[in-house]
Amino acid sequence: MLKERLEEVEERIHRAVERAGRKRSDIALVAVTKKFPAEIVCEAYRLGLRLFGENYVQEFEAKHPALASLTEAKFHLIGHLQSNKARVASEIFQVIETVDSEKLARRLDGIGRKLEVMIEVKLSGEESKEGAAPEDLPNLINAIRACPNLTLTGLMTIPPWSEDQEVTRPYFRRLAELARMHGLAKLSMGMSHDFEAAIEEGATHIRVGTALFGPRPKAAPHSA
Ligand SMILES: *Cc1c(COP(=O)(O)O)cnc(C)c1O
Repeated sequence: MLKERLEEVEERIHRAVERAGRKRSDIALVAVTKKFPAEIVCEAYRLGLRLFGENYVQEFEAKHPALASLTEAKFHLIGHLQSNKARVASEIFQVIETVDSEKLARRLDGIGRKLEVMIEVKLSGEESKEGAAPEDLPNLINAIRACPNLTLTGLMTIPPWSEDQEVTRPYFRRLAELARMHGLAKLSMGMSHDFEAAIEEGATHIRVGTALFGPRPKAAPHSA
């Protein structure tokens, strides 16, 4: 099942890449495995996937001992990170995509491990969404660049949900503009239902869960 779904996702990526005049190798597929057990991560690894996205520090902390043999795997934190979980997160993730404040950046830097980070940007006025406001980016970027243990590589965003990719596209375009303005190479944007538009607008990382693994189990094995 996963094998067939992966082939379908690859087909969709290829078509979008062609429309955009880009190369398949420009786009990294981050398989989002939140709420799925470690065996699913191992199965995906056997099929060649190497980048994984997880949302909850506690859930992944419980899962990751079972993944020690996946030596080429890289794990991205794509969910909100609370300062009090920064230390654990720095030990189990290679990339933190959701840095959104100077306080969190300094906290991560102070732990002393080298980490790749991205900034989560909030592009809509939705109250509940995490992320840094675009107008706060210059200060936040400077602060992160001053952190010796953090390497800032790009921006990430989660637009308001819409099944219509044309509604979401302007958010992707805006994130790409912001990254260009600030000299950042990586763009993490696009999920199962809208990664084509994201690829057309310049995504370098797409975060795909449902299209690969099917609907997520209702109860998390270890909820955060
Ligand atoms: C869950 C999640 C995804 C994957 O969503 P799907 O619609 O299942 O592909 C991507 N990004 C973030 C931040 C998520 O929380």
